[in-house]
Amino acid sequence: MENLSIFSHTEFNDHEQIVFASDQDSGLKAIIAIHDTTLGPSLGGCRVWRYDNENEALQDVLRLSAGMSYKAAISNLALGGGKAVILADPVTEKTPAIMQAFGRAIERLAGRYITAKDVGTSIADMDTISTQTNHVVGLSTGEGDPSPYTGLGVFLAMQTAVKRRFETDLKDITVSVKGLGNVGYDLCRKLHDAGARLIVADLNKNITKQAEDQLNAKVVSQDSIMFEDADVYAPCALGADLSNDTIPRLKAKIICGGANNQLATPSDDDLLVAHDITYCPDYLVNAGGLISVSRIPLQMTEDEVLAKIDDIPKTLEHVFAIARSEKKPTGYVANRMVKAMIGRV
Ligand code: NAD
Repeated sequence: MENLSIFSHTEFNDHEQIVFASDQDSGLKAIIAIHDTTLGPSLGGCRVWRYDNENEALQDVLRLSAGMSYKAAISNLALGGGKAVILADPVTEKTPAIMQAFGRAIERLAGRYITAKDVGTSIADMDTISTQTNHVVGLSTGEGDPSPYTGLGVFLAMQTAVKRRFETDLKDITVSVKGLGNVGYDLCRKLHDAGARLIVADLNKNITKQAEDQLNAKVVSQDSIMFEDADVYAPCALGADLSNDTIPRLKAKIICGGANNQLATPSDDDLLVAHDITYCPDYLVNAGGLISVSRIPLQMTEDEVLAKIDDIPKTLEHVFAIARSEKKPTGYVANRMVKAMIGRV
């Protein structure tokens, strides 16, 4: 029998509450992890994924929920961090009955966890969940797609990092972008409008062709994109791109992108410093989407949402200044700031 550890799990980070939810009629099997509610109710997406085993699902939800606490705190949102995973194939096994049963599981948490869209879930799923609970954001009648807000935050952060590192504007630089999905393509459009040169890669050849035609982007393979001769590398696909294998081969001097969990391990932060690469902490620069979906639960106006996204480059400047004066990696500095905010030093 597989040995499932919880409190001794490597990703267990003093989570407040972990709920294993099941429903016999629909077949729901879900884990909801509430990491921290010091600043407010936990908010984070629901991922539907065919995990190889239960331990993999637990690892994902523990890691992602802690990341949401950090993202909310650094964005000064009155929210905590949580996340949910449903163990099912998003194409062949996800049903409205499962999403309704998941909605009832959320309702039982009485507002301590608010769900949202993530990998394997859609706006229609959020609508289905909303038939059972009000603790859900990202409905078809709600805030709309968060990706352009995420793209905007990454763009503003990149502008600041480029100004600080190269003392120039985006029009003078080349950016390599891996992943031209909702966030990556939006970022590329903004960079193109600002005059930056683009090098791009995606598994989807239609989208790279579109970037070539519309944004004058140079298209390269997904294996070489990280190592291209660019000033900035923007990871906008999946996580864990930056490792002791890839970092020594990077030519870009700034990392600033939308992907979550860009560092393969926490010590890769030190390795980036050793290679004189400026790292813009992922959960800080990609928080625009979270800020936009918290508009309704936190009763913010659109102007307040945009003002909070405008704060992203200011917070980044602050992180850079501390990192410079203390000679510490930027990721370490950002982590220390958020841990102090939620009393987890
Ligand atoms: P998406 O699914 O729309 O796009 C991802 C793109 O990456 C796809 O086009 C896919 O083909 C491409 N891709 C995947 N693997 C690749 C590889 N090895 N090489 C090249 N391309 C590859 O997702 P998204 O919403 O744009 O999110 C992108 C990243 O940003 C994810 O890590 C996500 O967790 C993170 N993120 C997204 C948001 C948001 O608002 N959507 C907010 C915060 C963080």
